[in-house]
Amino acid sequence: MPIQSLNPATGQLLRSFDPLTPEQLEAKLALAAQAAVTYPLEPLGQRAFWMRRLAILLENDADDLASIMTAEMGKTLRSARSEVMKCVAVCRFYAENAHNILAPEVIETDYAQSYVRYDPLGIVLAVMPWNFPLWQVFRFLAPALMAGNIGLLKHASNVPQCALAIEALVRRAGFPRGVFQTLLIEARQVEGILADKRVAAVTVTGSEAAGRAIAAQAGWLIKKTVLELGGSDPFIVLPSADLNAAVTNAVQARLMNNGQSCIAAKRFLIHTEIYDEFEARFVQAMQSVVVGDPMRETTELGPMAMPSGVSALVAQVQAAVAAGGRLLCGGRAGFGENAVDTSAEPGCYFPPTVIADVPREAAVAKEETFGPLAMLFRIEDVEDAIQLANDTPFGLGASCWTTDPDEQERLAEGIQAGCVFFNAPVASDPRLPFGGIKRSGYGRELSLAGMREFLNTKTVVVNGLAVAASQPSLFEQPEELEPQPAMAFQPLNGLQEHDHFQERDPDLLPLRSHSIFGRSRGSD
Ligand code: NAP
Repeated sequence: MPIQSLNPATGQLLRSFDPLTPEQLEAKLALAAQAAVTYPLEPLGQRAFWMRRLAILLENDADDLASIMTAEMGKTLRSARSEVMKCVAVCRFYAENAHNILAPEVIETDYAQSYVRYDPLGIVLAVMPWNFPLWQVFRFLAPALMAGNIGLLKHASNVPQCALAIEALVRRAGFPRGVFQTLLIEARQVEGILADKRVAAVTVTGSEAAGRAIAAQAGWLIKKTVLELGGSDPFIVLPSADLNAAVTNAVQARLMNNGQSCIAAKRFLIHTEIYDEFEARFVQAMQSVVVGDPMRETTELGPMAMPSGVSALVAQVQAAVAAGGRLLCGGRAGFGENAVDTSAEPGCYFPPTVIADVPREAAVAKEETFGPLAMLFRIEDVEDAIQLANDTPFGLGASCWTTDPDEQERLAEGIQAGCVFFNAPVASDPRLPFGGIKRSGYGRELSLAGMREFLNTKTVVVNGLAVAASQPSLFEQPEELEPQPAMAFQPLNGLQEHDHFQERDPDLLPLRSHSIFGRSRGSD
């Protein structure tokens, strides 16, 4: 079956690709295997040099890349641009910090010398989702390539143009052939690749179903796996919170990325003392969101990425109402009654929707709602908040709004999740570990923890005194390479791959020192 790029705002077919034939796939695997031998021998400073060039290319091509993302999966152009900048940040973070994370660690023992070194595993298969078509890939790609691993990307089948654009960028940055390749394949072809002896490990970001299927096979094959799966994150508001800030952030936390984020707030747990006021203000704010064409600068909520997302939400609304929930706004496919911008085509739209009083024990109250659907619950106190927050199979993140330090400590301890944020929406950050527990998956991305997932923590023990003399060379800092003066960059031109750099913006040379984290925070 062809892999199709469809615009969810209009239903228009943008491009169509044939999946790789077995022969084409074998050629790519062979190239990756070759790269797995030679690429780890490249000095770390050289890898950092390429990674910095990649960051500059991303920055230069941000508008073009953002347009491809918006056209393929409907996120607003504004959020697509900030997604590109987040990729820039993660490239710079690992270019600057990899030598510290990868440095061998001396351990004092009775042996003449003992230390731990961190070696790449080899070829890592990345099975990725469409919701953050660049960011999900870059947060794998940047640490993996800096560590000397080889990346093979099986991207979601509705974002093939994004997948090809990423591969082209990596090549244009100068990384050797085969270090990172996009495989335009169907999901059913993943099994054969994972079974291939040349593939060492797999990382999956996506649904529970995909994670379970791939992890089951990887478990049988005894191959390292990281799983980043779904979530049903709570957004807890207690009486000491700044209600204005809580309401504003609640709307953004639910609607980010058109509501299709694993760490979007999905269940709103509001203290009974402030519940009525929160409900009224939240519903009003949700109804005033500008729904429409994602290419417009003023649009706040674009379409869902595909029709199946709309029908899943319709079914969840029906289930919530059937269980006794009160529908407060939205709830039917389309722009919604209060949509401000209805000039867009009738694509996969679903309006901001709020439902209250869904019984806690209803199945839909514990599910992931992957779209602009918020459910409100009343809570009595902190212990009640923790009990309800944990009453779901997932454990990705939690956003809690309270200024009381005792409440913060109790919530941080009691909530079962990979992260707890206070007075801020949950967001990923290259410096902080990111990942979940329970059915949200296992393993971590980003930070030191993320880079170490696909490394062999190798203990080295040397006995006898003679070898000690060779020790210092192991621990030298890598030399950082500076870009050559003749190097310059081309903007993304369609999806063409460019092997040569041409002068574009002399201000870029030499590489500037950027604030790594200025624009790096965001959501997944
Ligand atoms: P999905 O349907 O599971 O797809 C994700 C990827 O897995 C796609 O590349 C898909 O390929 C592939 N895939 C699906 N089933 C497979 C199978 N049986 N074997 C091998 N590959 C398979 O998920 P999605 O709808 O794209 O993404 C939404 C989900 O991802 C949500 O649950 C969301 O919460 C989660 N997510 C989690 C995180 C996190 O960090 N925890 C981040 C983002 C998203 P095809 O497209 O070809 O089917």
